[in-house]
Amino acid sequence: MSERNAPIRIGIDMGGSDIKFGATDLNAGELLLDDLIKRSILTAEGPQKTVAQVLDGIQAVLSELGADWADVVDISVTVPCPCTREGLIIEATNLGTPQTKQLWRVPFGELLAGAVRECSGRDVPVFACNDANAAGQDDDFVRFGNSNQPRTSIFVTTGTGLGGCVMINGHVHFGLGQAGELGHVKPAIPAQYAERFAQETDPTCGCNGRHCTESRSSLKGLIRRIEWALTPEGAAFIQKQLEARGEPFNQDVYARLRELGQDGPQRAAYEVRTFADRDRDPFCLWLLEDWAIMIGVLFANIAPILHPDLFIIGGGLTEMSSEARDWFIGVVRRVYDEVNAQSCFATADDNCKIDWSVSADQGWRGGILMSAHASRD
Ligand SMILES: [Zn+2]
Repeated sequence: MSERNAPIRIGIDMGGSDIKFGATDLNAGELLLDDLIKRSILTAEGPQKTVAQVLDGIQAVLSELGADWADVVDISVTVPCPCTREGLIIEATNLGTPQTKQLWRVPFGELLAGAVRECSGRDVPVFACNDANAAGQDDDFVRFGNSNQPRTSIFVTTGTGLGGCVMINGHVHFGLGQAGELGHVKPAIPAQYAERFAQETDPTCGCNGRHCTESRSSLKGLIRRIEWALTPEGAAFIQKQLEARGEPFNQDVYARLRELGQDGPQRAAYEVRTFADRDRDPFCLWLLEDWAIMIGVLFANIAPILHPDLFIIGGGLTEMSSEARDWFIGVVRRVYDEVNAQSCFATADDNCKIDWSVSADQGWRGGILMSAHASRD
């Protein structure tokens, strides 16, 4: 380590669309960069290109800090898919394209460690973990610090997929490795929502399973859903449901979504949240409601297994306005209580609570925390 510099832990958050880099001073226990370095991620091009991008990003962090490789004590990286404690990617759910997906069945932690060795001439420990586990860890830390208070929380993170984490007494529960993959729980659709989902009774998930919560409660699910919603048949169905609730169908918004959809459903899906949040457009709120319904059903099905203190929703939807967040979590709570009506799992002040995540920079900071725990274990 050079004399003028602190021992540094590098933190990297690999998301579905971007990658963030930061650093922590391990002596002072503080973050070293005010703004994380953020780039569009190259995971679609396979792990080798991604490893090169990670090295380049670390180099950028070190340059910004006036530090060098000798100052790096360890590296913590979070990945948007199931991953063992050892950094082995188990299922490349949100990595790569259909063409490059198979390239991702690799021990990414080891691959990165090897590249770091080649580049720096040193062995630097690399800790890789699933991003939802990192985010759940960070949320728990913000709420409880290092408290020993017995507690269980269930965390889901909304985004390209639906990540999950089970936290017991401040620790991530890994099971055999993939515990907490809540997006792949396959709960039954309650009868009152059967008609809403009847157009697509059997969606296939990125994991190749059928009926996964994630296939309806994620950006990927929304992209598939909007393809149907923008057909005359889909639009007529949603319009009928809105009319039954006394809500208007805004032709201008619909026309705009169709126009955007001509560049692909993804383009239209990106705007659904904006129209739902900013304009309170009923058509777009109806589409987003799919997510809230399925998260409510998921939580209701988990409650009898773990009876947690808290169910927490994190990820991209936490960025919505407070009005939209209130609406969304209101639907989650309503559906949860519909499924668990009059049971001992109903939400109440002294029972399971449903809340938004309170952490920021979840993946990145959580990854740092998890690697800190792992190095102590
Ligand atoms: Zn699945």
